[in-house]
Amino acid sequence: MRLILVGPPGSGKGTQAKLLAAREHLTHISTGDILREGIRTDTPLGRLARPFMQSGQLVPDDLVNELVADRFRRDDRPDRFVLDGYPRTLAQANSFDQVLRQQFLSLTAVVLFAIDDEEIIRRLSGRWTCPLCSTTYNVINRPPQRPDICDKDGTPLMQREDDKECTVRERLRAYHRNTQGLIPYYRDQGLVREVTAAGDVEAIYANLVQVLKQAGARC
Ligand code: AMP
Repeated sequence: MRLILVGPPGSGKGTQAKLLAAREHLTHISTGDILREGIRTDTPLGRLARPFMQSGQLVPDDLVNELVADRFRRDDRPDRFVLDGYPRTLAQANSFDQVLRQQFLSLTAVVLFAIDDEEIIRRLSGRWTCPLCSTTYNVINRPPQRPDICDKDGTPLMQREDDKECTVRERLRAYHRNTQGLIPYYRDQGLVREVTAAGDVEAIYANLVQVLKQAGARC
């Protein structure tokens, strides 16, 4: 199975990618994770990517395209994979197609996580984090026992800059702008499958497996 997951921030696609990887024995490739690791270990790639990531912008296409192409050129290149967070633009999709052609690989499906913007805003802006131990709570489905206080260490909870409503709205606008060309491109190839991304993790996973079966993938 060779999958691309596309979805807005907060749609749960990262969680689903990890579950698919574990249960279906797929290689999980997350460009966000690779870039964050590059920043943590201060690699040349990390140094180039840092200013873009810190300001919430996309890293330039050339940089991520090279990173992914390199992953597929290695001797241990993945044969079965789930890509999470790449491609994010039409230019990235074009570049990835070239990589796939060079490796004689074809995609099984491009899974689009369908969820209302307002639901994303409700989810993310309800998220509060402990600045001491990083535990995350959600006023809707995982509230702390005492309002605004971490259950583990009693520290007052904070809202991450990323999770504030106006930032979430901006991230969603960027997502729609960037994926505008991406989805029609894969739709024309007959690859797009939509998954309803509402409900809990296992409910979404069940939808995902169902959709993949319809796409002819063996789960
Ligand atoms: P993510 O963990 O997928 O939300 O990615 C976190 C950040 O990494 C993004 O906001 C971008 O700055 C960068 N990033 C990850 N993947 C890509 C990509 N395919 N293209 C450009 N930037 C990316």
